Amino acid sequence: MNVHDSERLSGLLQQSGYEPTTQADDADLVVINTCSVRERPEERLYTELGIIAANRPHQRPVVAVTGCVAQQEGKALLERGNVVDLVVGTQALSRLPEMVDNLQRKQSTRVDINPYDNVSFPLGIARRSDPVKASVTIIEGCNDFCSFCVVPYTRGHERMRPVSEILKEISMAAQEGHREIHLLGQIVNHYTAPDRPKCDFAELLELVHETPGVDRIRFSSPHPRHVTGRMIEAMRTLPKVCRHLHLPVQSGSNTVLARMRRRHTHENYLNLVERLREAMPDLALSTDIIVGFPGETAEEFEETLKLARDVRYNSMFSFKYSERPNTLASKRLKDDVPSLEKTRRIVSLQELQKNIQKEIHRRQTGKVAEILIDAKSRKRHWELAGRTSQNTVVNLEASVEMLGRLVNVRITDSGPFSLRGTLLDEVN
Ligand code: SAM
Ligand code: SF4
Repeated sequence: MNVHDSERLSGLLQQSGYEPTTQADDADLVVINTCSVRERPEERLYTELGIIAANRPHQRPVVAVTGCVAQQEGKALLERGNVVDLVVGTQALSRLPEMVDNLQRKQSTRVDINPYDNVSFPLGIARRSDPVKASVTIIEGCNDFCSFCVVPYTRGHERMRPVSEILKEISMAAQEGHREIHLLGQIVNHYTAPDRPKCDFAELLELVHETPGVDRIRFSSPHPRHVTGRMIEAMRTLPKVCRHLHLPVQSGSNTVLARMRRRHTHENYLNLVERLREAMPDLALSTDIIVGFPGETAEEFEETLKLARDVRYNSMFSFKYSERPNTLASKRLKDDVPSLEKTRRIVSLQELQKNIQKEIHRRQTGKVAEILIDAKSRKRHWELAGRTSQNTVVNLEASVEMLGRLVNVRITDSGPFSLRGTLLDEVN
């Protein structure tokens, strides 16, 4: 979501006459779009500000801090080492060019962290950084207040974008050549259209599916609690909707889940996994897990390992619990799992997951898979990479003109994090 917000900011600034530069020392304006979901990304802001102050002590660029840390810290950021000129919160992003302008004319509104209910963004403004995939926000903010999570405080309450606007943006992205659409929202499957009666997430999938030029549809993040029968049926019957569901579980222990205020249990989560796999046997599942949540005992963590073993996820993002300002957990629960123990738990979870992935991937060798070639390979820059519908990365030798093409490949080799394949033919 932050990457996509940066694409929007970039578009707004280019519309106001700014050009991007790859030379930091050249920039007249530096925008640092920030994340505060854990402490580590938040710290990166302060490192970046330190670098700007050290490298350009005499000829400072205008420095704007935008996004979640801006929202959280507000005008306190102006005082940090006297480097920051503008602070623009998550709901005021579209005001950035005007605020830069005002600053130059010395009419200074230097901080805007006000809530704005309007979720419209000028259509077509995003300067998308990816030629193949396009992110499209459908919901802003969140009302769930999971006890560990800062998002409801930094991104505000849940606001739905009109379906008419979403579809126009997707149409424009498809016309520009983006073949894969990523629908974004904190609880993406909670979507209901403010401008079309009874249009829920399942109907939105159907509407996106009908948009000419779109070949693949993905979305993140859905919440297990909001996976409906209609949504499962839409995923099952719409061929462009990828066979991958990111289903954040956070913990396998019911007592930890209750302290997290997640409102799902180990058992009803496993039931849901069973229903999904019954409907779509080839569905890949991924998840988010937090280890070392306040009070997490060795037995509670064992429940998480058990759930991971039972579900056998295709991939997983795991995080050590990081206390966040304003959250219920920070007010009521002590961050009492020692740092070394958090590390021990995350290492054992990741080891387990790596072995599961190795095994899942090994079974793919020899098979034919359809992939959308979407990037240069990470390790070998002369190779390309694509993703299967299940979201597994496949590296292959192919010429750069193949970027953006849907092709069949034969899987020849596998590792824990990706597959290797040889090109067979293009899918029409
Ligand atoms: N809306 C999504 C959901 O409900 O699952 C998650 C959004 S959150 C921005 C992304 C992930 O960051 C979460 O699923 C969680 O695993 C992790 N996360 C959020 N707050 C965290 C914290 N305080 N410490 C560690 N990880 C955290
Ligand atoms: Fe955060 Fe929970 Fe909302 Fe996800 S659902 S954004 S974890 S409060």
